[in-house]
Amino acid sequence: MKCPFCAYPESKVIDSRPNTDGNSIKRRRECLECQKRFTTFEMIEFVQIVVIKKDGSKELFDKSKLLAGVLKATYKSNVNAEDIVASIEAELQNGLRHEVSTREIGEMVLSRLKDIDEVAYVRFASVYREFKDIDTFLGELRELKEKHDDDTVVEV
Ligand SMILES: [Zn+2]
Repeated sequence: MKCPFCAYPESKVIDSRPNTDGNSIKRRRECLECQKRFTTFEMIEFVQIVVIKKDGSKELFDKSKLLAGVLKATYKSNVNAEDIVASIEAELQNGLRHEVSTREIGEMVLSRLKDIDEVAYVRFASVYREFKDIDTFLGELRELKEKHDDDTVVEV
């Protein structure tokens, strides 16, 4: 950051004040050349994630839409839908890609639900994977049941 008075490229930070929201910070700097002081303001840059829908159309990632979908599947369960959505949003923000398909988001939800609540998992899967017939649905249930049986195996 160049000094606004003499354009010298180096300065030292003499004071840092994080904003109360924790997303930005003000820094008081002193130019190493002319010793004049100036303030810089840093902010976290939130990346806008583009969601590619099944028909190929694109829209901006909408957290509330995803939350509504997860809430519907986790209704009356102990799953914290907001935590799930927040962790997905964080994963998307940390990723290098700025585009993601609805299918990928669906799988992200499922991978989280799978370990927490099987009923919610199946409910969500039935919407996202759009089971074409009852056999696909039953197959999914069987897979879960086997996994569950594995978990509860008691060695004699
Ligand atoms: Zn200067």
